[in-house]
Amino acid sequence: MAVSDHVDLPTFMEGVKKRNPYQPEFVQAVQEVAEDIFDFIADKEEYHAQQILRRIAEPDRVVSFRVCWEDDNGNIRVQRGWRVQNNNAIGPYKGGIRFHPSVTESVLKFLAFEQTFKNALTGLPMGGGKGGSNFNPKGKSVREIMRFCQSFMTELYRHIGADVDVPAGDIGVGGREIGFMFGQYKRITNNFTGVLTGKGLEWGGSLIRTEATGYGAVYFLANMLATKGEDLVGKTAVISGSGNVATHAAEKIVQLGGKVLTLSDSGGFIHDPDGITQEKINWVKTHKTHRRGRIQDYVEAFPAATFHEGKTPWGVPCDVALPCATQNELLGEDAKMLIANGCRAVSEGANMPTDLDGVHVFKAAKILYAPGKASNAGGVAVSGLEMSQNSERRAWKEDELQQMLKDIMAGIHSSCLAYGDQGGGYIDYVKGANIAGFKKVADAMLAFGVV
Ligand code: GLU
Repeated sequence: MAVSDHVDLPTFMEGVKKRNPYQPEFVQAVQEVAEDIFDFIADKEEYHAQQILRRIAEPDRVVSFRVCWEDDNGNIRVQRGWRVQNNNAIGPYKGGIRFHPSVTESVLKFLAFEQTFKNALTGLPMGGGKGGSNFNPKGKSVREIMRFCQSFMTELYRHIGADVDVPAGDIGVGGREIGFMFGQYKRITNNFTGVLTGKGLEWGGSLIRTEATGYGAVYFLANMLATKGEDLVGKTAVISGSGNVATHAAEKIVQLGGKVLTLSDSGGFIHDPDGITQEKINWVKTHKTHRRGRIQDYVEAFPAATFHEGKTPWGVPCDVALPCATQNELLGEDAKMLIANGCRAVSEGANMPTDLDGVHVFKAAKILYAPGKASNAGGVAVSGLEMSQNSERRAWKEDELQQMLKDIMAGIHSSCLAYGDQGGGYIDYVKGANIAGFKKVADAMLAFGVV
């Protein structure tokens, strides 16, 4: 008779740590999910017997490769590239590509693991993957970035495909980089296919893909507030980051009647007590994306604001907070400070921006707290819609897509309620998202047997 694997959570996590040495981000992401899943599967023998969580926490494969390119001075540069294909139980691998010096195998494994649950929550047929490189685009010329993207794709192309694995953008990879990579894919394969999302509108891209992650995070926030009979009108918001996610989250907050107080980058944060209006957001978009400037320059353009060097914005009193920069940017102490200052809702635009201590603080305080795998799923959801449009060889209208994004975010919110409602008016969105995402992937895996 087979012996089922009824280890407890600490023993399970010991194994994860042992098998993934020096991969703290990955271990952290698994721990956050395992805390909820162990409760959920306590009385579900089949998930234990089939070792489903253990299998989801072991990527299908990790491809690591060398990326050589030549800089503008003729020097040969060598970077490392990866694609982590975590799980394709419910659809082709899907997830972004990140170019940032902090990228390691651990970071990409955590992101691919998170992506698996996030993509399941969207309700669209997408598995989980993530890729990237420790290449630092900061200070590089456009030609250098092009040569890097071409070299990266020269290896990546053999691992991806419209029905195999569909990468997109993430930190350091926007429309321009997707263009360079798509161009190289097409050149190598002679195949015009929906192999990447986040493409330009002229060559197979989807309307509102750019806005979708930030807008989606605010729609999710609005859904959470609605459970308390509240909306965003007159609410103050603290946002970190100043890239695509942060600026579009700010835009949607402003559209829904809220007041945005902060934005940030790796140099520090700006605090604008007058509120960051649409006009100011437009300035930030141009300054950060096109001029590749620093957020601290904001205070010269808008002198009512102050710049706080080397600091994160979590000490600024607010009603709602949206961490939209990067992983582990909001620590336990920051979470305590937010709550002490009256913050009532947190919607994550970034992936795993709150560390485990912070998650425990938010849960203990029973505030409205949405983990990124639920609240930032709007981006990958519209990527899924881009894949559908590519398959159909047509482009849907903006108002149709806006509505679909809203409906998908509302659907994710309902899934969180289904598994996260703790009674007494408290919804544990972390638990709801983890269980709803897990169950969909796990049930597909059960259907396939031991593979
Ligand atoms: N990088 C985004 C994420 O973290 C989007 C991925 C995609 O569109 O495939 O979800």
